[in-house]
Amino acid sequence: MSTRDSDVIATLDPRRQRLLERYRKEYEELKAELAEIGYVVLGSVTERRMTCSTSACACHVDPEARHGPYYQWSWKEAGRTVSCYLDQDRAKLCRKWIANSRRLERILKRMRGLSLRVARLYEIAQK
Ligand SMILES: [Zn+2]
Repeated sequence: MSTRDSDVIATLDPRRQRLLERYRKEYEELKAELAEIGYVVLGSVTERRMTCSTSACACHVDPEARHGPYYQWSWKEAGRTVSCYLDQDRAKLCRKWIANSRRLERILKRMRGLSLRVARLYEIAQK
C-alpha cells in the first residue's frame, strides 16, 4: 500500500477503516486468483463430424458413420471470424484457455466492483 493510500485512510472513521480492511483482503484474494490463471484466448471450440468426397462411403447415408470428430476453434480477429482445426488434445487445451478467459473476466468484474466500493469509502466516487 502506498503512502498516499494510508494518508487518505487515516482521515476515515474506524467503521470505514474496518470495511476498507475487509475489502483490501478480498482484493488480495482476487489478485492471488488472478496470478494462477494460465493462457487466455477468446472464441469457442466446436466439434464436428464430416462427410467425405467418396460417394460410396457410408458417411453419406449414415450420420453415425460420419468422419471425425474434428475440432474447430473460431475466434474474432480485427472484426472478422478466424478459425482452425485442432486435434483432440489441442481442442482440450484450447477449451481450457477459453475457460481461463471467462474466469479472468469474472475476477476483473469483481475487482472493479470492489474498487468502486473502496472509491466510495475514500470519497473518490460520490455515488
Ligand atoms: Zn466418408
